[in-house]
Amino acid sequence: MRRVLILGGITEAAALTRALATRPDLEVTTSLAGRTRAPAALPGRVRTGGFGGAAGLAAYLVAEGIDALIDATHPFATRISANAVEACRLRPTPRLALVRPPWEPQPGDRWTCVPDLPTAAAAIPSGARVLLATGRQDLGPFANRADAWFLIRSVEPPDGPLPPNHAVLTARGPFRVEDEAALLTTHRITVLVAKNSGGNDAKLEAARRLAIPVTLVSRPPPPPGDRAATVAEALAWLDARIDNIPNDGA
Ligand code: NAP
Repeated sequence: MRRVLILGGITEAAALTRALATRPDLEVTTSLAGRTRAPAALPGRVRTGGFGGAAGLAAYLVAEGIDALIDATHPFATRISANAVEACRLRPTPRLALVRPPWEPQPGDRWTCVPDLPTAAAAIPSGARVLLATGRQDLGPFANRADAWFLIRSVEPPDGPLPPNHAVLTARGPFRVEDEAALLTTHRITVLVAKNSGGNDAKLEAARRLAIPVTLVSRPPPPPGDRAATVAEALAWLDARIDNIPNDGA
């Protein structure tokens, strides 16, 4: 029996967990940061909360006899991914980053790509009506934009400083293009602000159809080392390695 630790965070992490749960040769643990109050139910073992940095994660790998780690965290969750790199160096452990491809501009898109959230906030025209879909942890840079109106959409209600003129919409994707288009139209949105997370692109497709400008925060560099773009690629990576890992997990 081999033990696999999946660092969860993106939709694909749950799909990977479900795919591996059927394998009699594997024991799968999914680790969640604990930011979502009611995460989707997952098969296998689920643990929640931080490890205490790279050293804490390395200690966990030892204590639990983890044979392979798959980092399926969000492309903007840079600390946990860096911790995974360092932990798997400290306690040599095969590691894969499951990084879904970033969105690429299509004909008809009106994108402005920016390096970070403060630049995205500064780029909003005065008087704009903004669909702010960056996630509730990333609203601070927009808090002083009293000259625009924001529809803030997030999975959980936001709790930090918010721009004075706003409405909150809590909703969990995946979303349909038709619904996204209706949302943009109903709220007379003039700018969509998002991070280049990849995955379901319904809001971008809706913005394209309606010729609405998009301000997209570019991704930080992905973690070094082995990378998969899809769940299928991650499963193939695991299959190629799992039989070659010595029983002591080293
Ligand atoms: P982060 O800055 O990279 O991580 C902050 C700390 O949270 C880490 O140092 C770690 O604590 C803990 N942590 C993060 N992911 C964890 C996991 N899967 N299991 C256990 N501990 C975890 O991450 P973040 O940007 O705050 O995101 C938090 C979580 O939300 C991540 O799992 C991420 O995949 C998900 N998420 C993030 C975004 C985003 O835009 N950033 C969007 C959607 C989902 P210790 O150092 O104590 O181990």
